[in-house]
Amino acid sequence: MTDPAVALEINDLHKSYGSLEVLKGISLTANVGDVISILGSSGSGKSTFLRCLNLLESPSAGSIGFSGEELKLKVGKDGALQAADQKQLERMRASIGFVFQNFNLWPHLTVIENIMEAPVHVLKQDKATARKKAEEYLEKVGLLDKSDSYPNQLSGGQQQRIAIARALAMEPKVLLFDEPTSALDPELVGEVLNVMRDLAAEGRTMLIVTHEMRFAREVSSQIVFLHQGQVEEQGTPDKVFDNPDSDRCRTFLSSHF
Ligand code: ADP
Ligand code: MG
Repeated sequence: MTDPAVALEINDLHKSYGSLEVLKGISLTANVGDVISILGSSGSGKSTFLRCLNLLESPSAGSIGFSGEELKLKVGKDGALQAADQKQLERMRASIGFVFQNFNLWPHLTVIENIMEAPVHVLKQDKATARKKAEEYLEKVGLLDKSDSYPNQLSGGQQQRIAIARALAMEPKVLLFDEPTSALDPELVGEVLNVMRDLAAEGRTMLIVTHEMRFAREVSSQIVFLHQGQVEEQGTPDKVFDNPDSDRCRTFLSSHF
């Protein structure tokens, strides 16, 4: 994998928890600028898949490449794969932004401290630089006036926009979103989707697990529908939404509009 136009290349990824095989060989290529939405029922393996990409979960088999570089893996004591080169893993993790369903902000840090934390401690940016950049990203998500607030003083939608700003502050090559709006009251979903829409329009490479079908259709270059740990349907939004090959995919979509 040496093509610089390829942001992410996953081959035949497997993951088991004991005897339960949750991912049964998933392959996916994201070119730079692709926005790929991952759809599927609860339990189909969407979160496990995203979490395996930066080894938050250890895959059982398969290969993972980022920006022309293959993640070096070795078999650990438990039989699952782990990083063979910790430095490489840390470097790759720093270039993958992860936005979680429940925001995962540090409750004891202010908004701006949340955003500065990783750039200062992981990228070793000096504080003045990190603060300046944090302010730029806060402005981008429309929350510069909340710099000195604590997360629990903000709405869920605001917290998620902060979490996105925090991910952006690491200047990641790929952004992963795991149901970023699922924990939000309906009236707060739009403000988060608007920020994500802007990121997509900027040409950022994004993998998005979502149940927001209209949004997925509108922003995605590719849709992947997972069923029981396998890619059941994959293609352009028009193809997958209007004319899926899989009856399961059709049924799933019709129940989500
Ligand atoms: P999704 O995000 O699509 O809802 P998940 O990736 O969370 O699905 O889960 C896929 C399957 O893996 C489910 O059957 C779930 O119960 C199982 N699973 C997830 N995490 C664990 C774990 N830590 N231990 C055992 N089983 C798990
Ligand atoms: Mg999930």
